[in-house]
Amino acid sequence: MIDSHTHLQDDLFSEDRTQVLLRAKKAGVSAVINASVDFKDSIKCLEISKLYETIHPVIGLAPYSALDELNNTIQLIKENPKIVGVGEIGLDWHFKKHESQIEPFKKQIELAKELEIPVVVHSRSAGKHCIDILEEMRAEKVLMHAYDGSFKAAKHAWDLGYYFSIPLTVLVKEQKQKLAKEIPEELLLLETDSPVLNPDGGRNEPANLVKSRDFIANLREVSPKRIDQVSEINAKSLFLI
Ligand SMILES: [Zn+2]
Repeated sequence: MIDSHTHLQDDLFSEDRTQVLLRAKKAGVSAVINASVDFKDSIKCLEISKLYETIHPVIGLAPYSALDELNNTIQLIKENPKIVGVGEIGLDWHFKKHESQIEPFKKQIELAKELEIPVVVHSRSAGKHCIDILEEMRAEKVLMHAYDGSFKAAKHAWDLGYYFSIPLTVLVKEQKQKLAKEIPEELLLLETDSPVLNPDGGRNEPANLVKSRDFIANLREVSPKRIDQVSEINAKSLFLI
């Protein structure tokens, strides 16, 4: 399996990052796609990806970060060919609609297209808006991460060939269960978003992917092995790892 969205540079992993990766390996998670959210975080993300070959860096400026770091972040992405995607980027309109997030989102989509790498999209309370912008900009390589938008907009995104990574909250959230059940198999990925999004509370880690894998297999009435295989093939074909 591949955990398609983590933040293992987080300080919560500073004491035992190697152990966490070993537990992941034991559980069958062979690689992680590790995203950053701001400039300082991007530097840390790149540092740990140099230490562990199973960590693949995705660099970007998240919509909830200081947007004046955009130029630095873009420069950093251009300088690092090891980066497998631009993210997480997007819109976060959970508390209010921030029009100011649109321009940095668009600029980073443009960059990803130029570099021919995927975008990893955070779209909290702005799922349809993100999908509309991606479509308008003709983005082709897209991963919608922990999508919380409408089912209708998701279906439209599937028609456009956008991948979705389903987080562990599928164990408790009906909206995620519907997505996990209905998404075309060739667009399904799995993620933990470690260290967050653990439905049990506390720190999340990639080894927990087995729980959502088993749950989704049950929902779709296929074997866990099938979910392992398709989600891994999908992650590899999107991120070219
Ligand atoms: Zn994230």
